[in-house]
Amino acid sequence: MRDLSCKNCGGIMVYDVSSMTAYCRYCGTSYVLDHKDTDYYKTFYRQMVESSAKDENSKERDDRLWDNASVITFATTEGQNIELRYLYSYSDKCCDVYVTRRNIAFHFRKGEGHKAEYMRKMVSSLDYPSADTRTLSDFFPRVTGAFVLDDGTMLVVINKREGEYPLRLFGKLGGRHIAWVISRLENLCCVLEYNGLVHPDISLDSVYINPNNHTACLYCNWWDVERMNTRDVKGELLSSADNLLGLRKTAEALLKTDKVTEDTPKALLEFIRSSPRVDAYEDFAYWDDMLIRAFGKRKFIKMETTDSDVYGKEDS
Ligand SMILES: [Zn+2]
Repeated sequence: MRDLSCKNCGGIMVYDVSSMTAYCRYCGTSYVLDHKDTDYYKTFYRQMVESSAKDENSKERDDRLWDNASVITFATTEGQNIELRYLYSYSDKCCDVYVTRRNIAFHFRKGEGHKAEYMRKMVSSLDYPSADTRTLSDFFPRVTGAFVLDDGTMLVVINKREGEYPLRLFGKLGGRHIAWVISRLENLCCVLEYNGLVHPDISLDSVYINPNNHTACLYCNWWDVERMNTRDVKGELLSSADNLLGLRKTAEALLKTDKVTEDTPKALLEFIRSSPRVDAYEDFAYWDDMLIRAFGKRKFIKMETTDSDVYGKEDS
């Protein structure tokens, strides 16, 4: 995927899901994209959604997606070369992020090594309700490598599965897709609650989804995670409401319209605009209730399915 360089700092920008504006997570600059760029990113979204359909052509489509991958090489202090083939990259506040087929690599800037250490500490401290250990841990980062580079900076690598990509890369989604994303995020928020943690950046960049099997993972920005009941930079007490507001903001960013339509029922909009419940467990129960009100009985729909495919047919 083509990179957009920030005119202010040279960092690699992210673009919003309607692909109208670009934003630099490093320095905060934003600007409106020209038509050519908008078309490019819209085409890319379409490719991503299509690549999630598992059929006889999926291997070919997947290879085509990776044909445009870029390569970057890092040298470690021990003389080892690490080559990353990445589909997507962006600059965050303390590091540059590279999304490869089976990994996410974080290249921490000079002087940010403590953030790398902090991230590793937070990730390794995660604990899971015993019955769910195996499945839930799949949706949180697992550090598989950490390297000191020859310029003194740090590279930390975590696992991701093939088919998992940042939520941002899929563009705006239909209401039913937003609904399954919310369900998975509620689940992840329960794990944060269980661990007494606040993740201040649950967003299109930290959440990765696999649209083929409807899973969502919270992979990035663990260097900003804090314990509940500590104070943030503004002196506000951190609570589970911060996680649940991040969830709502993420869902809102994905909406194609904020009007009530067949695909965006009133109950879905009402949930997105609602205040978080007292904790993640109660919020999940509240969401489950709203989900039934919004869409009735659960059904699994593929991402490339159009609204008419879903609403034109009766349940069998
Ligand atoms: Zn910038």
